[in-house]
Amino acid sequence: MKFNELSKCYFELEKTQKKLEMIDILADTLKHSVSDEIGKITFLTLGKLYPDFVGIKLMLAEKMVIKALSLATGTSEKSIMNTFEEIGDLGKTTHQLLEKKSQTSLLSFTQTKEEDKEYEISEVWEILDKIAKMSGEGSADKKIKTLAGLISKVKPLEARFIIRIVIGQLRIGIESHLLLEALSVSKTGSRESKPLLERAYNSNADIGFVAEQLYEGGIEAVKQIEVRLFNPIRVMLAQRVSSSEELLEKFGGKCSLEYKYDGLRVQIHKKGDDIKLFSRKPEDITNQFPDVNRFIKEAAIEDEIIIEGEIVAYDSTKEKILPFQQVAQRKRKYDVDQKIEEIPVRVYLFDVLYCYNESRLDTEYIERRKLLTEIIKETENIKFSHQLVVDNTDDIEIFFNQALENSCEGVMGKDVSPDSIYQAGARGWNWVKFKQDYILPDTFDLVIIGADYGKGKRAGKYGTFLLGCYNPENLVYQTFTWVGAGFSDEDLDILYKMLKPLSRDKPKEVESEIESPVWFDPQIVIEVEGAEITVSPMHTCAKGELERESDGLALRFPRFTGKMVEDRLAEQATSTEEIHQIYLSKKDK
Ligand code: ATP
Repeated sequence: MKFNELSKCYFELEKTQKKLEMIDILADTLKHSVSDEIGKITFLTLGKLYPDFVGIKLMLAEKMVIKALSLATGTSEKSIMNTFEEIGDLGKTTHQLLEKKSQTSLLSFTQTKEEDKEYEISEVWEILDKIAKMSGEGSADKKIKTLAGLISKVKPLEARFIIRIVIGQLRIGIESHLLLEALSVSKTGSRESKPLLERAYNSNADIGFVAEQLYEGGIEAVKQIEVRLFNPIRVMLAQRVSSSEELLEKFGGKCSLEYKYDGLRVQIHKKGDDIKLFSRKPEDITNQFPDVNRFIKEAAIEDEIIIEGEIVAYDSTKEKILPFQQVAQRKRKYDVDQKIEEIPVRVYLFDVLYCYNESRLDTEYIERRKLLTEIIKETENIKFSHQLVVDNTDDIEIFFNQALENSCEGVMGKDVSPDSIYQAGARGWNWVKFKQDYILPDTFDLVIIGADYGKGKRAGKYGTFLLGCYNPENLVYQTFTWVGAGFSDEDLDILYKMLKPLSRDKPKEVESEIESPVWFDPQIVIEVEGAEITVSPMHTCAKGELERESDGLALRFPRFTGKMVEDRLAEQATSTEEIHQIYLSKKDK
C-alpha cells in the first residue's frame, strides 16, 4: 500500500473525536493492506517502529527536525521556527511549508520526476528504521540528511505525518486497544474478535506480530499465539482496597496475602544462559541489572522460565530493604557497575508465567506459587515473596503490620479460587493492594494533561498542572485535579523541559470540561497525594457513574510527592475505577 493512502487515513482520523468512527476509518484503510506490511502499518499508526521492548526509538529532537526541514525546503531555520511557534505543531508546519514550496515549483515548472515518486509504506518504514539505527560519530548529521532527503520527495500530507512520527507525536488518537478493534473489523467485518486479539497481544506485547498472524492465517492463527520466551507478557495489575474488611470481602472470606515490596517490577525471561529482564511498561532493562542476571542463573533450577518479582535495594549488613528512591537510582544506562556496588539489590519473586514448556497464564494462583518453588531455589539475593493464606481480618492486620515492619509498603491480596488466573494486561480483581498510605493520605499516579504558566518565581515555566486518571472502559483520560503544591524549582525545570515538546491542541483522548491554557500529549505520570476525594461538577473523573449525572470526582488538597513515575505508561496510571472505589469506601465509613 502507498504511504499516501495511509496519510489520507491519518488525516481523516485527525478530524474526528468519535471512537466508532475512528475504528471504521482505520479499518477501511487496513483492509487494503497485505500481511507483510500490516506489522509495519500497526507500529506507524501507534507512532513508532517496533514494540517498546525492542528499544529502538526515533524520537528526534525538534531542533534536528527543523534543520532537516530547512535542508529539504531551502527555507531558513529561523523562518521555520517562527511558523512552528505560531502553529504549535511541527507536522502542520511541515505540511504548510511543503505546500508553499510545491506551489512555487509548479509556477516555475521545475517539478522533477523524483518528486512524483509514490512511496510504499514499507519504503517509508525502512528509511525511518535506518534513521533510528544510525549511531556514533556524525550520526546526528546523517539523520538530518536522510530525513531531509525523504521529506523533499514526499507529498505535503505525507510529510505532515512522517515528521510527527519522527518526533514521537503522531496525534491521531489511536492507541493499541482501538487499533486491535480496527484490525478485527478490517479482517473479519466485526468487532467480535477483539477479545481474541487482545488475549494474543497481552501474551506477547507485540501488536505487529498479532496483526501479521491475523492477516496471514485469520483468526485461527491468532488463537494459536502463545506466550513466547523473550517477548514480554503484558503485566497484570491490581485493584486497591482501603481496609482489611474490604480486602477479605472482595475474596469471599479467604485469600492469600503477600508482602507488597516497594521496588521495581521485573519480568524475567530465561532460556539456558540467555536472560532478559523487562520492566512493567514493558521495556528491556537487562543491561541495567547485570547483577540480577547473575543471581537468576544461580537460583534457577529449570532452563526455560518466565517469572516475575520486585527488585528492591537491600542493605545486607542491616538486613533491611531500602526505600524505593534507592532502587530507582539503578534505572540508568551509564555507570552501571559503579551503581551495582553502591546500591546492591535483591529480588522477591511472586509469580511464574511459563515453565515446563507451558504458558502458566491460565494456571491457578496456588499452583503457580507451588511451581515457583520447584523451578527456583532461594539464594542470598533471590527470595520468594513472603506469603500466607488468611481467612480473618485479625490475621490480615498482623500480616500487614509485619509487612510495614519489614520496610514494605503494604500487602497484596490474591485470589485463591480456581479462577485465579494471571490476567495479563489487565487491572483485575484477582489481585488487590492494600497499602499503608491508603490509611494515611491516598497517593495516586496521575497523568499530566494540561498546565498553566507560573507567576513570580515560577514565571516562564508551568506552575500548576491539570492531572487526569485513566478510564480503560472508554479509553480516555479524565480530569481529577489541578496541582501546584509540592514542586521544587528543580522539579519545575525538569517538568518544563519534558512537557514543552508534548504541548499541543487538546488531545481527543482527554475528556475535560475545563479549558486548560496548555494541553499535552498524555505521557508523563507523577505521584500525587491528597487529603480527600470529593464530588465536583468541574472534573470528569467517574462522571456519569455517581448519584448525580453532573458530578465527577476531584482530589482535595493535592500535593506532588516528589516521585516521577517513569516506569509506567500513561494508561497504567491510577484508573477511574480505583478512584471511584476509594471514594465509595471512604464515604461508607
Ligand atoms: P503501586 O504504585 O501501588 O505499586 P502499580 O500501579 O505499580 O501500584 P499495581 O498492580 O497496582 O501496580 O500494584 C501491584 C504492584 O506492586 C506490582 O506492579 C508490583 O510492582 C508490586 N509488588 C510488590 N510486591 C508484590 C507482590 N508480592 N505481588 C505482586 N506485586 C507486587
